[in-house]
Amino acid sequence: MKENAFSVAKKQLEDVVKIIKLERTIHNILVEPERIIQVELPVKMDNGEEKSFKAYRVQHNSALGPTKGGIRYHPDVNLDEVKALAMWMTWKCAIAGLPYGGAKGGVTLDPKKLSKKELERLSREYIKAIKNYIGPDKDIPAPDVYTNAQVMAWMLDEYEKQTGKHCPGVITGKPIELGGSLGREEATAQGGVFVLEEAMKTFGLKEKTVAIQGMGNVGGNTAKILHKKGFKIVGVSDSKGGVYDEKGLDVKKVLEHKEKTSSVINFSGSRNISNEELLELPVAILIPAALENQITKENAENVKAKIILELANGPTTPEADKILFKKEVFVVPDVLANAGGVVVSYFEWVQNNEGYYWKLEEVNEKLKKIMTKSFNSVYETSQRYKTDMRTAALILAVERVAQAIKLRGFG
Ligand code: NAD
Repeated sequence: MKENAFSVAKKQLEDVVKIIKLERTIHNILVEPERIIQVELPVKMDNGEEKSFKAYRVQHNSALGPTKGGIRYHPDVNLDEVKALAMWMTWKCAIAGLPYGGAKGGVTLDPKKLSKKELERLSREYIKAIKNYIGPDKDIPAPDVYTNAQVMAWMLDEYEKQTGKHCPGVITGKPIELGGSLGREEATAQGGVFVLEEAMKTFGLKEKTVAIQGMGNVGGNTAKILHKKGFKIVGVSDSKGGVYDEKGLDVKKVLEHKEKTSSVINFSGSRNISNEELLELPVAILIPAALENQITKENAENVKAKIILELANGPTTPEADKILFKKEVFVVPDVLANAGGVVVSYFEWVQNNEGYYWKLEEVNEKLKKIMTKSFNSVYETSQRYKTDMRTAALILAVERVAQAIKLRGFG
């Protein structure tokens, strides 16, 4: 059975609370979000029918600054998942040293079943529902699974119509023409690659075979960047299944094939595999870049990778974590590995607030500095506490957020 993401997030927090002996009052604050918005979005479909969709925005904690987090369109979106993702955003921002708290949003729907016009109307309704609770100094949404720059553009436009003012800093991940940052589209992947390179140095790993689960924004861009750097991508997958070629896949061609056929499967010269098989491939580096709860107590023992770079949020369950730690698999946790997206979102927000835009080289140079520093702080904490990287990352994050709460006069 699929684990509840919020139970996982709470369990992770509880473990850290015990290690750092955090006060109960602060633990109580951190375990629940500051605000939950739950609405039914009314949408007129193209055939004239009216439908409604469940939508959420959860703001977890704002002690370090305005809250920040993506909006997900997926059939499995539910309140507990959004609560978990919002909490992970708080930790992610704290680890990267950003002046933000965490939030997340989601709408329960299968975006593949809606036309572009229906998606636009839905996105606009979403903003109408949450407009009073977002803003550049309140809560700043961004893209996540099945939302992209176009969706952010509709949302920005709706927010500006509703408030009657120009306000690019309310949302990040926008198209460049509307105030987006260069490098944002591939930032999560690029940040993940910077972290992977540090992890390989630390771990002393030279072998460069890779399997990637998920070929969307994050997985697809990671595959492209790693392929260019000379890594051998032997397996990739999407929601329909995966492909494997031990000689290495031509990433550009696989992505073209996916563009044409809507999936990576049946790519010529490769063997079709299931998503389960992909996770157990004989590779040095495994990159989950799709959804949560993929590496569990059922399959962790069979993972052969030496490094797992978690670009998806929450792909590994706590039981699986224990098994992987025993097997000495080096897991670079989501809150560290995939922070590149929110870091460049932060750069986008800074550029919007200043009205002055940076070159791509400047964005990537600053991203590399933050990702490298974050990796080293987490690694140093893991050595100091003699613990795994996830626990270390959360220790660092919880300590930073707790300190901010205390400085504000509580606890
Ligand atoms: P996306 O919608 O662009 O791509 C998702 C990919 O996952 C698609 O290829 C889809 O086919 C695949 N997928 C869906 N269900 C699957 C399944 N059951 N098995 C295997 N593959 C499946 O989304 P994205 O933006 O690339 O996000 C992917 C992950 O990265 C998510 O966990 C997201 O929260 C996380 N993330 C994204 C960003 C960002 O900047 N986009 C930042 C941080 C974390």
